[in-house]
Order: sequence, then structure tokens, then C-alpha cells
Amino acid sequence: MQSKRMLIVEDESATARRIGEIVAGHGYDVVSVDNSPAFLEHFQRLSPDLVLIDLLMPDTDGIDLLHALAERQCAAAVILVCRMDEKVLSAARRVGERLGLRILGGLAEPVRAEDVDALIAGLLPLAPPVTERELGEAIGNGEIVVEYQPKATLRRDRVWAIDAVEALARWNHSRFGTLLPEEFIPLAERSGQIGRLTLHVVNTVAAQVAAWRQQGLRLEAAINLPSPVLTDLDLPDRVIEILRMHSIGSRELLFEMAERGMMSDVDRTMEILTRFRLRGIGISIDDFGTGFSSLVQLYRMPISEMKVDRSFVTAIGRSREAETIVRAIIGLAHTLGMTACAEGVETQEALDLLRMIGCDKAQGYFIGRPLPADELTRFVMAEIALQDFRPPGELLGRPHAGELALLMDR
Ligand code: C2E
Ligand code: MG
Ligand code: MG
Repeated sequence: MQSKRMLIVEDESATARRIGEIVAGHGYDVVSVDNSPAFLEHFQRLSPDLVLIDLLMPDTDGIDLLHALAERQCAAAVILVCRMDEKVLSAARRVGERLGLRILGGLAEPVRAEDVDALIAGLLPLAPPVTERELGEAIGNGEIVVEYQPKATLRRDRVWAIDAVEALARWNHSRFGTLLPEEFIPLAERSGQIGRLTLHVVNTVAAQVAAWRQQGLRLEAAINLPSPVLTDLDLPDRVIEILRMHSIGSRELLFEMAERGMMSDVDRTMEILTRFRLRGIGISIDDFGTGFSSLVQLYRMPISEMKVDRSFVTAIGRSREAETIVRAIIGLAHTLGMTACAEGVETQEALDLLRMIGCDKAQGYFIGRPLPADELTRFVMAEIALQDFRPPGELLGRPHAGELALLMDR
């Protein structure tokens, strides 16, 4: 098998050598150069799988190199190295992503071996070669399924209670196994099938919410709405029709849309969101903190919930910067009259901090992972059964069943 190739441009030869040795340990053939003309020449010749760019070099500031790579349609994963503070590194990273580059991550100097290892571990295999046609068939034949991740609400008595789920699409592919959304949603968007896929998900979720109702469970379901469907003015009517078919109320559904996609066609998006809200369907702004919404637009959009991006929440306990951002976003949500939901809650520490700040909702692996509908039902029911063995009034960090039972009685 042909080995993988890495190209490094770094003027500090000791740093280049050190990183080169670590990456070679992962099976890469490594070539290092110390100036940008040599880098571009080697890039053409080698067509590397992985590229490392020192952002501060005597003859260039690194951003020029990112532009040059974008012009050459670079498909390689890119690692950035910088001697300056974290903010410069993350700004450069964003520039690269906006140029369409696959930025794997950044390394601050002095470079640590474990950081390099972690970046290389994040190199996912290339997307499976699924076709438009296969996707079209999958939407029709039930291969696109939905998993549900629990969401907890902080009650007045400061206890977290599971009362909602987020619906997450999966493709049970006959050859490639379970595919995650990032492996097929972009294809659905490119091939014009995203509208059909979205309605399939809405239909599946509405049927499930109705089934939970029958079992005595009241769970609000959040569904992700991708930005291309936010221009379809018929969408609200179609959704309402689906709800009617399954006899469920509009308050049992909530739509999440990414901050980044929201501002592309503001007028149409505003109209569609307003129609949803008028019919009682909540709107959540997803992955908040990763885009650049203007405060005026945010204030004007009929949004009911703001979801703090998980990159900040997972860093609670490790990064002061992330904690400051989490606090600021939750404060902003409340000031604008929205509820705040933190996603990516992976630790007790994060959940405790969120309780202290007064975050309204939380979601993450610490509370529960995404599960197929029947397993999610068992998970929720098991919490209820467990509660029988706990002393009354015991307050756990994790949401537990008695709380859920109370919610159902509301
Ligand atoms: P999202 O809406 O931000 O969904 C949350 C993602 O975070 C999910 O990934 C979930 O599994 C993951 N996650 C949840 N808790 C944790 C945690 O504690 N730690 C970490 N590290 N991750 C956590 P998933 O299922 O891979 O979905 C990725 C994205 O794909 C979603 O991000 C959403 O934007 C999109 N997506 C999912 N389902 C659909 C769908 O039906 N339609 C559309 N258009 N997009 C979807
Ligand atoms: Mg979401
Ligand atoms: Mg999100």
C-alpha cells in the first residue's frame, strides 16, 4: 500500500524535525521545507495528504499560503502552528475554513507530542462513496432512521429533568454500516434532496412523539432544519399537515437551525420562522457562537432558544476562555428573552457550572447519548424504575426519574 505523505513548511528546523518524527510514527513520509516557494513547489509534486503550516515565517504570514492552497483546490488536511496566542491561531483557522480548506487543528508552540497525536487521530477516513441515487432510494426505503438524544431542563427547584429529545438522522447503509449526518447531509444538500429528507425526518419524529404519548411519555422533540430548506415558503404548511396527520400539538416540536445558515436569505428565513412561531412551534438557534450573527438580526428574528455550541461546553474545566463564552452566551440569550441550552455536556463539572449560571437546558453524553427510539424509551423508563429505590428528595447531579414522572404529571 502506498504510504501517506506529509509536507511541512516551518522555518525553525528543530520544530520541523520534532513534528516530523512524531508524524512519521503514524506511518507518514514527511518532507520539510523552510520557505514558501519551496513549499508550493513540493505541494504540486507530492500532492500530500497532510500539510503543516507555520503561520509566522520570515517570507510570509501563513495566510498567503492558505490562499495559495485554496487556489490549488487543496484536499489535504491542514495543521497550523503558531507561536502567538490562542486567538491568533483560532482566527487563522477560521480564515482557512472559510477558504474551504480542511483545517485539522492548530498547534501552539512549544509543540507537545500528545497534541500532535490527538490531531492525527482526528483524521477521519474519507467520506464513503455514496451516490445521489442511493441516497434517494434510502430516503424512500427506510434506511434513513432517527436517533434521539435526551435534553434536560433545569427546574425551579434547581434539579435537572429530562423532558425533551433532539432527533439526529442516521443512514443504515447496507455496505457501509451506520453513517452519521456529516457523511450524507452535505450530499443531500448538493443533490437537491434535502427538502425530501427533512420532511422524512419530520414525519418519523412526529410518529414517534405520538407513540411516546401513547406510552404516557411527554417528550418535546427538536429537529434540525438545514439552511437550504429555509427558503421554501411552503415548509410551514407541510409541517403543520404532518403534525395534524399524527395528531400531535405544535408545542411538542422545536426546530433547530445553525447560526451560520440563518443569515443567508434573511427575508425568507424571517418569514418562514415567523410562520412557525405563529403556529406555536419553537425555534432554536443551533451551534451558537460559531457564526457571526449581528445583534440586530438576532434581536429581530423570532427565536425562542439559543444553543451554546458544544465546542465551548466540552471545554468547561479546561479553558477559562470557553467558560467566559458560555456565560456570555447564556446571558445574551436571557437578555434577548430566549431560553439557553448548552450542548456537549460531558462532565458533572460542566452540568454543575451550568446549573450555577442558570442555563435553562442541557444536552450531552453525560446526560445521555443518542439512542434508537426503543432504547431511548427504555432509558427514560429505567430512570423512572430506578427512582423507586432512591430515598425521597435525594437530589442527584444527573437528572433522574422522579423528576421525569413529575413532568409527565404536569
Ligand atoms: P447538532 O444539531 O449540533 O447535534 C448535536 C451533535 O452533537 C450530534 O452529532 C450529537 O451526537 C453530538 N453530541 C451530543 N452530545 C455530545 C457530547 O456530549 N459531546 C460531543 N462531543 N458530542 C455530542 P451528530 O448526530 O453526528 O450530528 C451532527 C450534526 O448533523 C448535527 O449537529 C446537525 O447539525 C446535523 N444533523 C443531525 N441530524 C440531522 C437531520 O435530520 N437533518 C439535518 N439537516 N441535519 C442533521
Ligand atoms: Mg441540533
Ligand atoms: Mg449543535
